[in-house]
Amino acid sequence: MSTALTTAGIRRPPAIERLLTHEAAAAPIAIYGRTAVTRSLRAVLEDVRAGRAALGAEAALLADAATRLDAESRPSLRPVLNLTGTVLHTNLGRALLPEEAAEAVSAVMTRPANLEFDLERGERGERDSHAEALICRLTGAEAAIVVNNNAAAVLLVLNALALRKEVVVSRGELVEIGGSFRVPDVMAGAGCRLREVGTTNRTHLGDYAGAIGPRTGLVMKVHPSNYAIQGFTAEVMEAELGRLCRERDVPFAVDLGSGNLIDFAAYGLPPEPTVQAALSHADLVTFSGDKLLGAVQCGLIAGRSDLLARIRKNPLKRALRVDKMTYAALEATLRLYLHPERLRERLPTLRLLTRDAADIRVQAERLLPEVCARLGARAEVAVEPCMSQIGSGALPVETLPSACLALRPPPGARKAGAWLKRLGAAFRALPLPILGRVSGGALRLDLRTLEDEAGFLAGLAALDLPEMDM
Ligand SMILES: *Cc1c(COP(=O)(O)O)cnc(C)c1O
Repeated sequence: MSTALTTAGIRRPPAIERLLTHEAAAAPIAIYGRTAVTRSLRAVLEDVRAGRAALGAEAALLADAATRLDAESRPSLRPVLNLTGTVLHTNLGRALLPEEAAEAVSAVMTRPANLEFDLERGERGERDSHAEALICRLTGAEAAIVVNNNAAAVLLVLNALALRKEVVVSRGELVEIGGSFRVPDVMAGAGCRLREVGTTNRTHLGDYAGAIGPRTGLVMKVHPSNYAIQGFTAEVMEAELGRLCRERDVPFAVDLGSGNLIDFAAYGLPPEPTVQAALSHADLVTFSGDKLLGAVQCGLIAGRSDLLARIRKNPLKRALRVDKMTYAALEATLRLYLHPERLRERLPTLRLLTRDAADIRVQAERLLPEVCARLGARAEVAVEPCMSQIGSGALPVETLPSACLALRPPPGARKAGAWLKRLGAAFRALPLPILGRVSGGALRLDLRTLEDEAGFLAGLAALDLPEMDM
């Protein structure tokens, strides 16, 4: 070691210039560049000077600097394995795009595209033209608009059709979705006055009829996506409400939340209203692109063309618009719906939702020996039945039978809670983090959503469990 000594005999950190010529500097400089390695070395030496780190050999200082650069260069937004049992997990990015959508996005991402250009006429075009025809064909709508998400779709509809006017909504539908989308707050934000009708559990047609008047801008029904009111309940059917609104000549909008286009029952799934059905009674329907539709984050407004023309002219439309990548992903995903025979196979959301519990169990049994071999005596691993959730507020009370790998502390372990926390942390610390769910004293890995088995097995192999022996 060639660290210089001060006259007092205390070792002094080497000069950065010298460290940069050390052979151990070559690799990090090749990857990150001289500027970044210099900056990282400076931070390492600063910690040494401040007494936060010991002064190691030159190679050790360089290794420390390289480790810091590795950590910094890891993207903040990274893929994970979602084994939480929630298929459309809002915190994990909701729907997984089909291959076709990823390819379409990639094609327009690094090249110019005809986003607002009409290639036939050689003049400026409308960005909504890329998805509109398909949305209309699939839903029966006259026109459609795409915005940033469904919250934006609702905001835009309210602001464009009911600014400074009243919006009639059933008290049982004044919902909060995910904490930041509360129907009453969105109304206020859009400049509308909320006119609540009915009670929390029961609203009748007469309640609506009594509330509609000259100040009414819109009647809205909100699909109670993330909760269910059960027991003594009554809600006015969309058909009746649609008829009433037509008689009174006020627009009727339905916020569906999940944009389902197919007959869920035909796929063996719990029934979920479709956009088509809602549009047969409502003038406008708003829904998300990344929930049951299985596409990209966006919000769709579909319905009467005269109302959509008013919405298109609203200044907020520009602020809420989406970019070319979103149109590319949405169009490619919607196109898959034109081929219903292959939809289940190609649309990841539908493929995962319709997986058979018996198949998932077979997969779990197959992976069990590998997981046991990796965790050894540090955990008890078992295949157990569990229930998956659809997620994203869709079908809140319905669950799907599934199978999981349940990881429990070995017999004799003292602090089961701490053990589960450490195991969860070890799975999350993997290069491809694995996320499960803790319930019933076990860390459960629901395999309904496990398609990347190679990634899972590589993760198991890399699992770092130094503190798991208790
Ligand atoms: C999910 C949902 C929203 C919000 O949609 P985002 O796409 O998340 O903005 C609004 N309304 C209902 C009924 C929903 O279920």
